[in-house]
Amino acid sequence: MVNRKDKYDVIVIGGGLGGLTCANRLAMGGFSVLLLESHNKLGGLATWFNRKGGHIFDVSLHGFPVGMKKTCRKYWSKDIADSIVQLKGIRFDNPQFSFSTTFDKVDFKRLLREYFNIDQETIDGFFSTVRSMNFYDDQSMTTRELFEKFFPGRNDVVRMLMEPIAYANGSTLDDPAITYGIVFSNFMDKGVFTFRGGTDLLIQKMEAVLNENDVDVKLKAKVEKVLTKNGKVTGVVANGETFYGETVISNANLLSTIKDFVGTDSFDDDFIKEVNNIRLNNSSCQVYMGIKKGEKIDYIGDLLFTSTAEKFDSEMLCSKEITSRTFSIYYPDIRPGTDMYSIVASTNANYDDWAHLSEEEYKKAKAHLIETTLDALEKYVPNARENIDYIDAATPRTFKRYTHHLKGSSFGTKFEGLKVSMELPNKIGGLFHTGSVGIIMSGWLGAANYGVIVANNVDKYLRKC
Ligand SMILES: Cc1cc2nc3c(=O)[nH]c(=O)nc-3n(C[C@H](O)[C@H](O)[C@H](O)COP(=O)(O)OP(=O)(O)OC[C@H]3O[C@@H](n4cnc5c(N)ncnc54)[C@H](O)[C@@H]3O)c2cc1C
Repeated sequence: MVNRKDKYDVIVIGGGLGGLTCANRLAMGGFSVLLLESHNKLGGLATWFNRKGGHIFDVSLHGFPVGMKKTCRKYWSKDIADSIVQLKGIRFDNPQFSFSTTFDKVDFKRLLREYFNIDQETIDGFFSTVRSMNFYDDQSMTTRELFEKFFPGRNDVVRMLMEPIAYANGSTLDDPAITYGIVFSNFMDKGVFTFRGGTDLLIQKMEAVLNENDVDVKLKAKVEKVLTKNGKVTGVVANGETFYGETVISNANLLSTIKDFVGTDSFDDDFIKEVNNIRLNNSSCQVYMGIKKGEKIDYIGDLLFTSTAEKFDSEMLCSKEITSRTFSIYYPDIRPGTDMYSIVASTNANYDDWAHLSEEEYKKAKAHLIETTLDALEKYVPNARENIDYIDAATPRTFKRYTHHLKGSSFGTKFEGLKVSMELPNKIGGLFHTGSVGIIMSGWLGAANYGVIVANNVDKYLRKC
């Protein structure tokens, strides 16, 4: 391997779960790795923040599939994997139905049979169809067509099967059915899981592992440019300083990587045509509510998918006039010993609804978001207003500011982005992309697993070099 000070085998731009996992897997393989992160902490969207009154808020720790346990055990540590625990109470409440579930295959099959009166053959047919879906399948069928095939005219069934996945990866009924099938099946395996100790502990543990594996981490290092020569990467420029590397892996937004870091002139016209057709995924709004020290919330479930909309509609999920909210209730058990409760309400959102507001309009819209969220919460936590002593909101503007994702995208790009992300190293030697892309490779599990896939490709490339 090369002298660390002069040149790295690998430079990773961005410390989200994709970048972190990729960096760690390559360092475990013996390569010298430099990770440059623009923020003052690692984690990307897997983040948290502290506020006075002893509050800690998790931004994206609402739930992930059991597969995260295996990924963490194999590519991080047993200690990290052992802190992953199941959420038991997932609740749906909307005008079409209201019940609690453990959100796994056994319970979803039971609900489809007993609550929605679907016959067993159709249920089994649906589950085996989605279970067998993979990336190499026919991609022309949409999720809408998949549901119409198995549950024609049953908007209520579609809502139960689709609404949580739309929250988990921003997918809509018009996206390819495989983007739904793969993610839904991952959740249906064993249910929804979380990290006991909170995002802060997870990232602290990951930092310790990176340190053990000799990954050089530089925070507050914003990459401006990826340097190339004769069709190969040579390094990056961050805050005006040049770092040299044999390979560069960008965990930043795919479109910023191609258009801003490298520049469209470095690619052929056909490729740029494909790049220009890539759509970004939606963004999010959140309201963070901290319960006063000493006050309690009775157990009402861990994750509440609530809606006042009569029917499920993908577009309405992103509307600024919010009808659907996911409440994550954090009981003291998430951070044993703290005895604090907090609630985070999340909704999908369109960046353009928020981007062009004047400062005054923006303030008003944020205040409206907070007030209407409190109104909605009172149905489930009747004395919420009196017991909350910290409240604030994040909007698509907030997500853009902290992660630099174009349009504050929460889940990278739509499906067409995945092919372009995978083709990058064929266009410029040593240039790779990892992290949220193509719907499938998003969320904690998707981003981390894509980190491993890309690390394997980088490993092969470096060994060939
Ligand atoms: C509100 C919300 C709730 C969510 N809830 C869940 C959930 O419950 N479960 C789940 O599984 N997923 C959830 N997600 C999605 C999940 O958090 C993300 O898909 C995943 O964390 C993204 O990881 P990533 O590797 O793509 O990188 P990101 O987290 O997007 O990180 C990219 C990193 O690159 C850095 N970067 C960008 N540009 C530069 C630059 N020029 N120089 C240096 N660094 C740069 C950024 O600062 C950032 O740290 C949620 C997302 C949002 C927004």
